[in-house]
Parts: sequence; C-alpha cells; structure tokens
Amino acid sequence: MLAAVSTPPFHPSPQATAAWRDRDDACPGALRLHAADDGALARIRIPGGVLRVDQAEALGRAARELGDGELHLTSRGNVQVRRLAAGCGGELAKRLGASGLLPSQRHERVRNIVASPLSGLDGRGFTDVRPWLRELDALLCASEAAAWLSGRFLFALDDGRGDVAGLSADVTVRAAPGEGAWLRVGASDAVLPVSSEEAPRAALLAAEVFLEAAKGQTWRVSELAVPADELLSDVVRRLRAPQPTAVPGWQVTGEPSPGLVTAPDGMTGLSVLAPLGRLTAAQWAELTASAVRELRLTPWRGVILPMAPVSRLSHLAATGLITEPASPWTGVGACIGRPGCAKSRADVRTDAATALRPGGGLPVYWSGCERRCGRPRGDHVDVVAEQDGGYRISVVRDGLAQATFLNSPLLATAVAAARTQDQFHDQ
Ligand code: SF4
Repeated sequence: MLAAVSTPPFHPSPQATAAWRDRDDACPGALRLHAADDGALARIRIPGGVLRVDQAEALGRAARELGDGELHLTSRGNVQVRRLAAGCGGELAKRLGASGLLPSQRHERVRNIVASPLSGLDGRGFTDVRPWLRELDALLCASEAAAWLSGRFLFALDDGRGDVAGLSADVTVRAAPGEGAWLRVGASDAVLPVSSEEAPRAALLAAEVFLEAAKGQTWRVSELAVPADELLSDVVRRLRAPQPTAVPGWQVTGEPSPGLVTAPDGMTGLSVLAPLGRLTAAQWAELTASAVRELRLTPWRGVILPMAPVSRLSHLAATGLITEPASPWTGVGACIGRPGCAKSRADVRTDAATALRPGGGLPVYWSGCERRCGRPRGDHVDVVAEQDGGYRISVVRDGLAQATFLNSPLLATAVAAARTQDQFHDQ
C-alpha cells in the first residue's frame, strides 16, 4: 500500500502552456460547442454517468428548448445535445451550472470518468466505486494541472468485475479481491497496489505524471513515446510506494444486459439500452419518470435505473428502448453519419436500422468513415462506408481485422454472418 505522502502540485511553465494552446485537441464540450453539419453540438461530461433525477430533467428541458429534443449517449457515458440553436451557448452553460452539471468551467471537458454502472446494485464486484467517483471528480476539479488534460483522456473506476477495465482508459483503478485496488497506467505491464482510501489521489497523480511527460504534445497515454510502465514507476517514486506487481488476471466482462437488475436479495433496478445511443425526448421523459433518485448512463449507451420498479419496464419498452437481450438492436452501434457529419459517406444509422436481423453475435459498429468515432474496444464487427457507396465489413478480434467482406450486395446477410461467423469467406 502507499505511504501517506503529499505530492507537490504540478504547474506547467508559461512556455509549456503556450505550446499546449497551439495544439489543442478538438473535443467538443459543454462550453466549447462543435459546429456539426446539422447545427451546434454540445458534449456534457457526466462522471460515472451518474445523474440525479432533477439533473436529468434539466438536461431534457435544455435539449427540447435549445436543441432538437434528443440526447445522444457516448461511449464514455456522456451526453451530447445536437442541433442547438445559434447563440445559445451562454444559456446552456447557465442551465448546466444551475443544475450542478458544470462544477468547474475550466475542467468541464476533462471530467471523463467511466465507472462500473452496476456497482453496489447487483451483488457483484469487490467494492462500491461511487465514493471513488465522487472523490476523483472533486480532486480533478480542484487540480490546476488537470485542467490541461485533453478532452480525450479517460479514467476508469472498476469495481472488480472487469467491465470498464476493458475500455482502454489512460488511468484505471480496479478493485482487488478483499481490500484495496490496483492502479494501472494505460496498458502498463504492472499495477500498483493502493489502499481504497488512496485510490482516487493516486489516479489523479498518474494523470499529472502523464501531463509532465506529454508536454502538451500528446493526448492519450497510448500516444506517448514514454512507455506506460515508466509513468507508473514515476508514480511509485513520488508516492514512495513499494514496487508495482505484475498485472494480475485482467479478465474483462461485457456490458450490463437489458432487463431486470437483480441482487442476491431480490430485484434492485432496471437496465435498458438506447438504440444506436439516441434517446428521443419521449424516451428521456419516460426514463426520468421511472427513475428513483438517479440514473446511470453506461459507456455501452445504456441507462441503469437503480431501485426502479419492474412495472416500469413495459413503459420503457413501449417507447422503443431495448429492454431484453434478444432484441435485434442489442449490440448494434453507429456513429452519427449523415446528415450530421460532413465526413460521412453514408446515412449509417438508417443503413444499420435497415440491416437489423435477429440472432445477435459479436457487437457490430457502423461508421461513415475510417475515423470510426465511438467504436467499441473489444472484439466486434466493423462496418465502414466506402467511397463507392458500399460498405467494408471486417471482423475485429484482439485489435486485428481478421476477415473482410467488400460491398456485399446482401449487406444485412453479410453483417449477420460476420456477427455469428457461421458462413462467410475471406476476400
Ligand atoms: S466516424 Fe467519420 S462519419 Fe462517423 S462521426 Fe466520425 S468523422 Fe463523422
């Protein structure tokens, strides 16, 4: 475990900050709106995806009154509001601030924290990560250095089940069996055992160590010339901690299934998925009406409603939300595509909907171009629009595309076959 040592705060030099301003990441935020083809877009960071009911209601009102009424869930459990009216940025910021969704304007784009969404609800996991979540968010917002993180830097707080530990975060804290946790930097070969109390502070320190090494030239640990193990060693040195240990079995699990969330002592909540991550105003209203105290947005574009009664499940299903694993929408994702994105070669969301088939299998992700915004991290089927109007379909395993289909005339059949891998051939 770590020695209780306070670490000096990190303050970038004026030269460094000047260089950083020259090369900012382009991630949108709640204050820095992105000019999309269909209007302005705001991305609102929701640490851990946790929203109080009143905050969810405020978000829904903002989307209806300032945007097109829809809310889009991202692969980090954040929310995007699209088609915002021109010049509404100040009003949006005012509303977010009033509802507690903007605790620090300087840090609004760096509060990227994913956390096991079922933590404390279903009897799995080694700890409840919500205290870590609250503390890490508070530490982030209080850190001068952390304001210089990019909008892409990601923290993951895993309760030990291995769900968000598989999301390739820059800094991961994973609960260990018994007590304590492991701190991992990027894909480091080692982890640092830390006590539960020290875990959030150690996570922030790892991010500050990254900032010093990156000097504003890279946004993610994986892009850094310095190996992740060296960053971890630096964290160990500053904390005067014992040497890291080899990464223990880092098994990862999947996303929460839609339906009832049950614990050994009975039903504890509901889990739903949003088709392609898009929530209509009516769906959001039903979710907020069904919620008891809070909603938890998941990095898999779902929503957990802790303690919501089972009777609400049919109401949620009636709005088109996914409430059972057998839904053909389960595992299907897509970027925004046309008409929202100028780079897109196709209306991928319409094409994905048209190609829906029962049967499931590997997750499938449709992209309008090779950037593949929001694609899943694990094994999946990658469907990318081509210049000629067709799609390239690849099966991705262990980060490698293992087979490719080119522009099948039977797109839906080819995608279904790739997901189940029962009848396809290489080209
Ligand atoms: S993957 Fe390409 S088309 Fe899709 S949203 Fe990203 S940039 Fe746009």
